[in-house]
Amino acid sequence: MIIKTIKVMLPLLVVFVSNVGAIEAVSTDQNYFSGQKPNLIIILTDDQGYKDVGFNGSTDIKTPNIDIIAKEGTRFTNGYVSYPVCGPSRAGLLTGRYQDRFGFTSNPTMDPTIAQNGIPTTEKNIAEILKPAGYTSAIIGKWHMGTHPDLRPNKRGFDYFYGFLSGGHQYFPEDLTLNDLADVKYKYDWYRTRLLRNEQRVDTDEYLTDELSHEAVEFIKRESDKPFFLYVAYNAPHTPLQASKKYLDRFPNIKDKKRRTYAAMISAVDDGVGDILATLKAQGIDDNTLVVFLSDNGGARNNASDNGELRGHKNDLFEGGVRVPFAMRWPNKIPAGVDYDQAVSSLDILATIVEQAEVDISKNKPLDGVDLLPFLTNEKSGIPHDILFWRHLKAKSHAVRRGTDKLVQVKKETMMFDLDEDRQESKNIAEQQIENKAAMQKSYQVWQSELQDPAFPYLGSWKKNRPKSQGKNKDTKRIKVKQND
Ligand code: CA
Repeated sequence: MIIKTIKVMLPLLVVFVSNVGAIEAVSTDQNYFSGQKPNLIIILTDDQGYKDVGFNGSTDIKTPNIDIIAKEGTRFTNGYVSYPVCGPSRAGLLTGRYQDRFGFTSNPTMDPTIAQNGIPTTEKNIAEILKPAGYTSAIIGKWHMGTHPDLRPNKRGFDYFYGFLSGGHQYFPEDLTLNDLADVKYKYDWYRTRLLRNEQRVDTDEYLTDELSHEAVEFIKRESDKPFFLYVAYNAPHTPLQASKKYLDRFPNIKDKKRRTYAAMISAVDDGVGDILATLKAQGIDDNTLVVFLSDNGGARNNASDNGELRGHKNDLFEGGVRVPFAMRWPNKIPAGVDYDQAVSSLDILATIVEQAEVDISKNKPLDGVDLLPFLTNEKSGIPHDILFWRHLKAKSHAVRRGTDKLVQVKKETMMFDLDEDRQESKNIAEQQIENKAAMQKSYQVWQSELQDPAFPYLGSWKKNRPKSQGKNKDTKRIKVKQND
């Protein structure tokens, strides 16, 4: 209600102030008066460790621009994604619903002939939901939500797409040697397809992260006079670990080659975030834009990431897999320079923007996310989520968080942790928590009964592995670590 009150009061303020001849002092944000709906920018990184941002205490990787989002906005110390691996996590983020509700249980196959290999058309993503409200949407970067012609970004509400359909990509333009998925012979060769501008294959001459940042900036400049949703889905710092000299030179003190390359890749993203924030200011839309930064899952085992004290990595339901660097900035709308310590989820981003943009979703399937703003502004007491769930079918694993209690089931072992006292999940207190454990398992069973089985074949089911004899050819020699999904 505070926000709405401010909106109503501002024109009155103008009348009052204009009588004393100082109208410029309060009319800096034209959007209040034109009634323009707020823009949304989601900046998503890939496999970035919890600690690998300045705002979460990184000492060797400086991220001054990403840190602005936390310093001038709110940092989430318990910010989660809905799955510890790329594809399902993004499906949850984009729909605001637990992705297992529609069978998005693993990374989808890259096989373009399978019409089920992404977000089903019975579900609506952020771009599709905002479109009727007058929004223009773009995805810049990694899609990974289906390769079938009916599932590609331009068919799923996005007016503009610049990037790639795969779950990872080669970073140097000379390695983008395949024209299309039809040319893919072996697994992960899809990392070498030329980039797409909408449905057209295009060539580039830049390091991929720089290219994506420039595209994001150009989109903002083009669309700044009307509401937009910009989804900047960097594949950095996902493998292959590849960085250009410009960024490597910033880290002479990191001796480990993998860590140095990883740091350089994040630094490239950080420059891009700086350009995006500067463009918002230059276009005069800074105050009317909600910017969210997060990683799609925790740091992976193979990219030299650092999850700090959190246990586990990407693919685990321990905190290191699902708790991510997460911050949100919206000048004058959400508190600046503060921490929010209650559990929040990537599922909440969609719910937050639809509420702020006053979009009617009453006829849609119910969201699992909630509007965070009233919690951040203390307009609403209580917490955003009484309970959060994760299901990882392939690992025979699930997890539940309620308050500061966390249940982690891995195959037949059930563990309980008190995250308030034991952020590291090092002390299994299942024996002392018999009743609590049973109650949380029961809640999980109820939730699980609402879910669907896998809707499509998993990523690794398409194409053969590249024969070892071909492993050192020109196109793959830059791959310094094993690629995975
Ligand atoms: Ca990822």
